[in-house]
Amino acid sequence: MFIMDALGYPRAGDDPAGNNSDYLAAEEGAYNKRVEAAWLKKQLGDLFEKNRECADLLGGKDRASLLLSKMRLQDVTEPGWKMPAGLTDRQRAAVNRVRINWKWAAVTFTFDLKSGQWDKTPFNVYVGQAFLEAPLPAQLTVAIHELLHVALNTGKESDIPSNEEIGRICGTAQ
Ligand SMILES: [Zn+2]
Repeated sequence: MFIMDALGYPRAGDDPAGNNSDYLAAEEGAYNKRVEAAWLKKQLGDLFEKNRECADLLGGKDRASLLLSKMRLQDVTEPGWKMPAGLTDRQRAAVNRVRINWKWAAVTFTFDLKSGQWDKTPFNVYVGQAFLEAPLPAQLTVAIHELLHVALNTGKESDIPSNEEIGRICGTAQ
């Protein structure tokens, strides 16, 4: 499976309107994408470290950091990005909704049939244009939402705490 742990669109200058000059964009494009994914994960890790209630949403600090360590961010807007093999029709449809920007993010993961829990193998979180252009507090809420799908082993939105609740507990965007 092609796994690219990359998050595009570094916004070093806090410029969501996208006024970065071309040379900057090219320079950033060359080396920053991996850094950005790592950076976002670091922000999440710091958050779970200092906010116990937030980590508890995911089953506690240890569980939260395990989830984080297995999360692979995939920027579906990256030229040449390919749909991973082995996804179900439903999963492919969800990823495609991110690609055409109907959704900010999607997640696919595998779970153990016996325990009915995530099997602790790496999983992909797919992010698209809206996510990549969003400010950090919104990215954090969306990322936690996707992690919750895995933590709770559910594809149902109604099983996931609302963004308002995530934002209130974690101090991220609501
Ligand atoms: Zn969801």
